[in-house]
Amino acid sequence: MSDFNAVDDQTWRDEPAEENDLECLDRHKGGCSGAVEYRMALSATGRQFPRCDAHWGKRLDEQEGINQRYPSLQPSDFDPSYAGESWYEDE
Ligand SMILES: [Zn+2]
Repeated sequence: MSDFNAVDDQTWRDEPAEENDLECLDRHKGGCSGAVEYRMALSATGRQFPRCDAHWGKRLDEQEGINQRYPSLQPSDFDPSYAGESWYEDE
C-alpha cells in the first residue's frame, strides 16, 4: 500500500506548465538570455512579439541594416502618376 501512495503523491506533484511566462520568438535559434518581454513593433503591421534581451538586441541590429538598405518611405515628392497625366494632356 505504501508503494501505491508514493506513486499517487508524485502524480499530484506534476505541476502545470508556466503558461504566463513569455517565450522568446527566436528561442529556436538558441542563445536566449535576459528577460523576455514584448518589444516595440518594428514592422509595418505594428504587431509586438516577445523576445529576450539577447535576441532583441540582435533584431535591432538587423533592423538598422534593413533601414539603411531599404528606406521604408518613398520621398514625399515621388509620384509616378504625375508625369503620366501631363504626358497625354495634349491628345
Ligand atoms: Zn531569445
